[in-house]
Amino acid sequence: MSALPPFGTPEWLEAGTRQANDVSPVTPHVSRTTTWDFADRAAVRAAMFDASPGTFYPRYGHPGIIALEAEMSVLERAEASLAFASGMAAIAAVPHALLGPGEGYAYAAACYGGTHALGRDLPRFGFSSHRFDAFSLSDLDRVLDQDVRIVHVESPVNPTGRVVDLEAIVARVAGRAIVCCDGTLLPPPLQRPIEMGVDLVVHSATKFLGGHSDILAGIVSGKRELVARLEKWRRLSGGLLAPDDAWLLRRSLATVELRARAENENARKVAEWLANDARVERVHYPFDREFGGALVTFEPRGGEQAMTRTYDSLRRIRRAVSLGGVESLASIPIDTSHVAYGDEEFEKLGFGRHAIRLSVGLEPFEDLRDDLDQALHGF
Ligand code: PLP
Repeated sequence: MSALPPFGTPEWLEAGTRQANDVSPVTPHVSRTTTWDFADRAAVRAAMFDASPGTFYPRYGHPGIIALEAEMSVLERAEASLAFASGMAAIAAVPHALLGPGEGYAYAAACYGGTHALGRDLPRFGFSSHRFDAFSLSDLDRVLDQDVRIVHVESPVNPTGRVVDLEAIVARVAGRAIVCCDGTLLPPPLQRPIEMGVDLVVHSATKFLGGHSDILAGIVSGKRELVARLEKWRRLSGGLLAPDDAWLLRRSLATVELRARAENENARKVAEWLANDARVERVHYPFDREFGGALVTFEPRGGEQAMTRTYDSLRRIRRAVSLGGVESLASIPIDTSHVAYGDEEFEKLGFGRHAIRLSVGLEPFEDLRDDLDQALHGF
C-alpha cells in the first residue's frame, strides 16, 4: 500500500478534496471551507471585487447560500434574496442597513413580539420609530408624515392570522417609503407579497420555509438594489446563514408548497372543529381566506385557569415555542412569542390573555381532534 502524500501537498489535495469534488451529485455537497485557494494575485483580486462572491470568504457568501438565495428568489418572484442566521437578523438588518440618521421606521402595532421589541430599540441608534395600526390607512398617513422611510408590516399576523391589505398599504405609501412585509406565517407560493407590490419580504425561515424544526434562519427577498445594500450590512454584522443550515433550508424549499398546503388543510379542520365546540370561547383563524395559514389560536371558556389546564393536558400536541414544523405545537403567546407586549396590549392585538396558539402539522386530523377533545374535557 502506497504511503499517503504529506498533508497539504498538491498530491494530498488530489487524493482528497479535488477528487471528492469531481463528481456530479444530484444533491449538492455541503461546502464548509472557510477559504479558497487561488492561482495568483489577479485571481484573488477578481474574487475580492466580484459583485456576488461565493468562493472567497464565507462571511461574504458561500456556494450553499448562493444556491439557496437563487432558489428563494424564484420561489418568491423576487429580483434577489439574502439569507441570515435567524429571522430576527433579517428583520433587524432592514432598518440598520437602509435608514440614515434620524430617519423613521414605522412598524405594525400587531406583529411578532421580537419585531415590536426591535422597533422600541431603534431610537438608541438615532432612528425614529413609530407604531401604527396596519388595519387603518389613516393611521398609516399619520406616520408617513413623520419622515418614515421604512414601513414594516406582518401578514398574516402572529398569532391571530389576520391578513393585512398589502395592496392598499403599497398604494397609500406610493413610493414614499420602503414597504417590508414579514410573510413568515404564509410561505410562497401560497402568499407572494412581491406580487402585491411590496419592496421587501422577510421570513423567519426557522418556521414554514425550514419546516422541520431543525434550523434557525432568516431570508430577505426583494429589489436588487435594496438587497445589495442589505448585503453590505450583512458583511459588517456577520449574521450570514452557515453552510449546514443553508443546505438544510435549500433542501426544505423543495417541499414547502406540499407541506404548507397540507398543514393549511389540517389547520382549517382544527379551526372549524374548535369553533363548533361549546367549551371554546373564541377561535382566531381567517376562515374567509383560501389559505388561512397553519396557526389556529383559541381561547378555552373559563379564563386563564381553564387555559392552563387545557394546555397542560395535551398529549399528542407538543407544548413548545416556535411554529411551522411538520409536528403540531402548542404555545401560550402571553408567555412566549408576545411577552414583549404589556398586559393591557393583548386585547388590542386581537387575542385574550388565555389564548393558546396551535401550529398545526401533518398528523392525521382525527389524532389532533381527539387530543384537543380530551384536553378540553371537564370544562
Ligand atoms: N417573524 C415572525 C412572524 C415570527 O413568528 C418569528 C419567530 O417566532 C420571527 C419573525 C423571528 O424569527 P427567528 O426566531 O427565526 O429569529
